[in-house]
Amino acid sequence: MAIRRKKPRENDLAERYRRGDFDKSEMFEEDEDQSERFSNRNKNAQQDKIEKTGLLRAALLAAAAAANPGELAALPLGQVTQVYSLFCDVESAGQSLLCVTRKTLTKLADTQLVVGDWVRFRDTGINNDTGRREGVIEKVEPRQTVLTRTDSFKSHEQHPIVANAQQMLIVASVKEPAVKWGLVDRMIVAAKSGGLVPIVCLNKIDLELLSDPTTEIADADDESVNPREALSHYLSIGVQTIETSVDRAIGLAELKECLMNHSTVLAGHSGVGKSSLIRSIQPELDIRIGEISGFTGKGRHTTTSARRYLLDFGGSVIDTPGVKMFGLWQITAESLLEFFPDVVSKTAPPWRVASYERIASSLA
Ligand code: GDP
Repeated sequence: MAIRRKKPRENDLAERYRRGDFDKSEMFEEDEDQSERFSNRNKNAQQDKIEKTGLLRAALLAAAAAANPGELAALPLGQVTQVYSLFCDVESAGQSLLCVTRKTLTKLADTQLVVGDWVRFRDTGINNDTGRREGVIEKVEPRQTVLTRTDSFKSHEQHPIVANAQQMLIVASVKEPAVKWGLVDRMIVAAKSGGLVPIVCLNKIDLELLSDPTTEIADADDESVNPREALSHYLSIGVQTIETSVDRAIGLAELKECLMNHSTVLAGHSGVGKSSLIRSIQPELDIRIGEISGFTGKGRHTTTSARRYLLDFGGSVIDTPGVKMFGLWQITAESLLEFFPDVVSKTAPPWRVASYERIASSLA
């Protein structure tokens, strides 16, 4: 009967590496031995194998790095473009590597890595079974901006989902579905609180605004708000706005200019036209494809909630499928007023006052 060797634990490997009695071929030989067994199993088992092998390599490199701590700043810099359960994609100098995070770093970090994080990584020089180059993340650079998600309007718990994005394009549609200004207001606060510049994009203006510019549309609280007045109110408090129609090709050049050379998070409910807008300015880019995992094609290792796409005219858009609501980063009931200068100056229309009160009560 064949004797099965027990797989060494990561810590044992790192220790043995330090002592100098680690034979690298041992790990990979064992992987070879196992490959036949795996060939009879399903793809998830193979995926587990890839992950475990990656983690073992990470442990080895961590041991090597511990002996040489001063060199971190000299490591290549890359940006996280997608996060899986144990891995992430890191783009650096036009190459996309599959990276694991150094174990000690995972313990130290306040939060998990997110899309947009700048990292220092070590290139292992190894391509894994799927042909991807592997790397080990050694250091995460401080975040310039942060966007968080939360599970509900009332929840105080927040989790970062995107780092270092510059702006948020808040897409709403005139109709189908009708714009809810209260939610647009909340997204503006979510963006600003994390350091992102909000831009309100009112799409599908072909459906009503063009035929009847005085159209009044019900908001979340059933009050009537004229969309043009809402947009001009935003402008008056320094929030940029764009009116678009994909069907009639209105506002698309302005949208393109706005996204060019910036990293932009796309926000807005399903059906408002986010993917249509992006396709209209970059036809081959279908952000909905990203909802199926690019890793396994099965969804098991899909990104938690964000994915970055490069724009061929410069810049990137970050989609956050599955995120129900953005969090209000470090906002208290007291600091909320900073985001409602119109409420402070008593120039806010009723729907803005209602938005303020609703958010304030959720923070209380
Ligand atoms: P997403 O869920 O926000 O990405 O929305 P989609 O881009 O999938 O669009 C939802 C629906 O709205 C699709 O049927 C689109 O064809 C339609 N749509 C998108 N933009 C416009 C527009 O400007 N005008 C009209 N009339 N329909 C639009």
